[in-house]
Amino acid sequence: MSIRMLANTLGALIFLHAGSAAYAQRVVNQGLVIENVTVISPERVAPLLHADIVIRDGRIVELGTNMVAGPHARRVDGTGRFLIPGLIDSHLHVGHSAALDDDAIDAHPELWAAYRAQVPRAYLAFGFTSVVDLDLTPSDQAWFGGTPLHPRLYSCGRGIKVPAGYMAFNIPPLSSPNFPNLVYEPKEAEHWPKSLSPGDYTAERAVSRAQDSGAICVKAFVESGFGTFNWPYLHTETLQKIRDATRERKLVLMVHATSVDSWRSALDAHADIIAHGLWVWPGDLGNAVPPQAASNVIAAAAHAGMRIQPTLQTVAGERAMIDPSLLEDPRLAIALPPAVIAYLRSADGVKARTALLDEYRKASPPPGFEPLLSAAIERTRATFKIMLQDHVPLLFGSDTPAGEGFGNPPGLNGRLELQDWANAGAPLSLILRAATLDNANALGLSRELGSIEVGKSADLLLLKDNPLENVSAYDSIETIFLNGEPIAREALRAHN
Ligand SMILES: [Zn+2]
Repeated sequence: MSIRMLANTLGALIFLHAGSAAYAQRVVNQGLVIENVTVISPERVAPLLHADIVIRDGRIVELGTNMVAGPHARRVDGTGRFLIPGLIDSHLHVGHSAALDDDAIDAHPELWAAYRAQVPRAYLAFGFTSVVDLDLTPSDQAWFGGTPLHPRLYSCGRGIKVPAGYMAFNIPPLSSPNFPNLVYEPKEAEHWPKSLSPGDYTAERAVSRAQDSGAICVKAFVESGFGTFNWPYLHTETLQKIRDATRERKLVLMVHATSVDSWRSALDAHADIIAHGLWVWPGDLGNAVPPQAASNVIAAAAHAGMRIQPTLQTVAGERAMIDPSLLEDPRLAIALPPAVIAYLRSADGVKARTALLDEYRKASPPPGFEPLLSAAIERTRATFKIMLQDHVPLLFGSDTPAGEGFGNPPGLNGRLELQDWANAGAPLSLILRAATLDNANALGLSRELGSIEVGKSADLLLLKDNPLENVSAYDSIETIFLNGEPIAREALRAHN
């Protein structure tokens, strides 16, 4: 037999084998089968082509090729489609309004009800099958968990705050359901309410209060005033005590920090995650160029392996007060009900937006709100780029909604955050990983979530386009699988 004949024979054998394999497709007769799809999952070096995934009881039970749904199984055709893990947004505030201010909520309870009904659906529609709330009240937890269709909700319970400090400027009576999770900070003793006994508000007690509410993490606020104000804040020694208490209870410690000093404090306390990017440092607030001190603290974070949520939308979302073009974004109709969008475009909505802008203008030191906001947005981008260069471990979190106004709509704000990362030069594979497996690992959820592997929960997204080719692929989500149940994206739109 010549080499050529041998080659031909082998070729024929391989051909025959491939042919018989096509007939030897295994029929799956239980559960749901996603057939012939391209699997893109962060633990894989390359996509798995023509894959078939079997889902039963909410879990991925098989992943391979050459499987086909039989008559008793549900079948989803994945031909020409991409399957990725459900996204995780590890920085949200589900109960805060991202569209209506207090006056609008009082005047239009029906708009508030329509808005609230859409919030959990909006997160799902933009692919977020798991969300982490960093400062969750029991009433918001009950509300969100009680909605008919919602992402998995994890939380840090109530964030740990100091009286008269950020997010705790006014302390309601102890009997109020809105009473915050306070900690006694000896260095800010002058602000401590006389009616409260410091012994009830140790770091240990604050952490245990968060854990009692079912938290998987704890958030502590180190914020002296964004370079503009001079608020009491959590100092490093107290933060270290919180660190010790979270370690004992196996809770993840997240620190709200936006400045060089507060990043240092989070590093010194060996926190697990810094819950914001870096945009505050001493000196001219209008200057966007990061000083050496910013580069140094980012290098220190990289060296320590500190995980960072850059939250570029925290400041970028404030742009909507000046530039309302987000109201014309067709994707807004997936995030907000039509009636709420109509309100935001109405004379009353414009009036509310202008009033808010005036407040921000009045509160801003020179050179004024607009230049300061532009500088802050530039700063978050510039420091994010340094983080990318230094290979700081990045976690995806959108901080929805960061503040007032409609610049951080539920779900869509996460999509905008994905865009911000891509625009700043983050590789698409890094973005996907940060929003899935890295978040799951950082929060202790990777046994269940974050990748497409046998045994994990079947939280999946079916996309028309490839998210490793263009970030706009996240606009092409067709089906969201939540705990194995397929939901058409179109079905998640609000209609009233
Ligand atoms: Zn936040």
